[in-house]
Parts: sequence; C-alpha cells; structure tokens
Amino acid sequence: MKNFIFHQVNMASAKLLSGHLALVTGGGSEIGKAVCQALACEGAKIVIADKNENAAKLTLQSLPQGEENVYIMEVVDVSQSHSVTNLFTSINQRLSQVPDIVVNSAGIAHDGLMNEMTEQMFDDVLNVNLKGTFLITQAACRLMISEKIKNGSIVNISSIIGKVGNIGQCNYAASKAGVVGLTKSVAKEMARHGIRCNAIMPGFIDTPVGVTIPEKVMSHFKKLTPLARCGKPEDVAEACLFLASSKSKYITGEVIEVTGGLFM
Ligand code: NAP
Repeated sequence: MKNFIFHQVNMASAKLLSGHLALVTGGGSEIGKAVCQALACEGAKIVIADKNENAAKLTLQSLPQGEENVYIMEVVDVSQSHSVTNLFTSINQRLSQVPDIVVNSAGIAHDGLMNEMTEQMFDDVLNVNLKGTFLITQAACRLMISEKIKNGSIVNISSIIGKVGNIGQCNYAASKAGVVGLTKSVAKEMARHGIRCNAIMPGFIDTPVGVTIPEKVMSHFKKLTPLARCGKPEDVAEACLFLASSKSKYITGEVIEVTGGLFM
C-alpha cells in the first residue's frame, strides 16, 4: 500500500521534461526567455546562454523557483568556436550533465538593401544565425553521441523570412533559409543516434525587434494574417516545447511555421 501511494505521488509530480537538461542560446531574448520558461515549467534544468549577460540575468530571475529547479546562465558568442567549446566545458564542470535538449535561438539582423549591403553586414548575420547554429548543434551532438544519449532534441529557430524573403533582409533571409537546410541534414545524419532535429519559422512576433518595423508595414501584415494578430513569444515557446519533448518523438527534419497562417 505504501509503495502504491509513493508511486501515485511520483506520477503526480513527474513533469514532461523532468531530468532533461535544456540549453537555450539567445536565452536572454524575448523568445528565448519564453522558451526557457516553457521548458522550466515542465521540469527541465535550463542553461540560459547568451552574449548579453544582463538579458540572461533577467531570464534567470523570471523562471519558476523551487528547491528542485536547476538553472544556470552562461555568456557565449555562438559565432566563435572557442566560445562554444568553453560553454560546453563550463556546463560539464557545473552540472556534470550533457544537454539533451538544445534550442538555437541566438540571432541578429543587420538590415539593408542588397545593393547597399556591405560584406561585413552579410558575414555578421550569417556568422551568428547560421554558423552559430552549426557550431552549437555540432558540439551538442558530439557530446550526446559520446554519452550515448538516445533521445536528444535540437530545435532551431529559423524565420518565415527564410521561406519568403524580404526587402532589406537578404542576409537574414539567407541565414534563416540556411538553418532549414542545416536542420534537415542534421536530422538525417543524427537519426541513427536517436537525436532529432527540427526547426520553427516564426512570423511577426511581438518583441522589441518589432518596434523597429514601421506601423504601416505591421498593420499591412496583420491584415494579411488569417489569425489577425502578431504572434507572442509564448506561441513560439509552445511549439518549441512540443518539439523538445517526447510528444514529438516521431518527428524529425520538420519545419513548423508559427505565423498565424501568414504566407502558408
Ligand atoms: P532578440 O531580441 O534579437 O535577441 C537575440 C538574443 O541573442 C539577444 O540577447 C542577443 O544579445 C543574443 N545574441 C546576439 N548575438 C549573439 C551571439 N553571437 N551569441 C550569443 N547570443 C547572441 O531576439 P528575438 O526577437 O527574441 O528572436 C529570437 C530568435 O527568433 C532569433 O533567432 C530571431 O531571428 C528569431 N525570430 C524572431 C522573430 C521576431 O519577430 N522577433 C521572427 C522570426 C524569427 P544582444 O542583445 O547582445 O544582441
């Protein structure tokens, strides 16, 4: 009888991601923060990794508090391989656990019309959005394989702009389209190791980035959106939680558009 009650209590407290360690790059951003919150609410331990230490701190402070929770923050530049190596070394030293959930959300935009775009603007965006996703994914997969982790999940944050393009964003669009190609290739290579890799294409999401978009442009896109509103960071986070968890265990190499139906 005692065992039965113990089992029942355990069943009640077991959460979807209990025991998992999630690494979220760009964890200090609005979308990254919402992802950290969604994964933490389901019991995952969280590594908030960001170049922006203050933003990462704010995310850390926003997470649900409890004795069983484990959250750390790490400063990283995902575009630099030495910084990525240091990140995984530090995680290993601090938590003695390999991340089995990775969300690549660190990203930048540096907009300009193609004919005015400098080589530096192009390289900077590709280096963070695409190369950074590659470096983090490669390091995480190598460790998951060496530790024989059999249910890893990588979730890459692309953008709907990677599918449809945008005036003034040829660098950003190329980087986010590249993330989809990377995702599908990683999914094929890593399937035999039990590691899944999927991508999310958010549409217009209500974040500080949106503030720079002229009101006229925003209301034009809202009119074109079947669900008639901007997305919220939580909308992206919910899709991320699904792809990170075993609820999507037969899904890999897939792209989920979180756009309210825009450009479907
Ligand atoms: P955001 O506010 O632009 O923040 C991105 C975060 O990543 C910032 O904390 C930034 O730090 C950090 N970061 C920049 N470069 C980095 C690097 N080299 N290494 C590590 N961290 C770095 O982001 P967001 O709007 O929430 O978007 C998150 C992701 O969703 C991005 O990949 C973005 O492209 C994608 N997305 C966003 C939207 C949208 O409407 N917001 C739509 C589609 C896709 P700093 O503050 O120091 O730059």
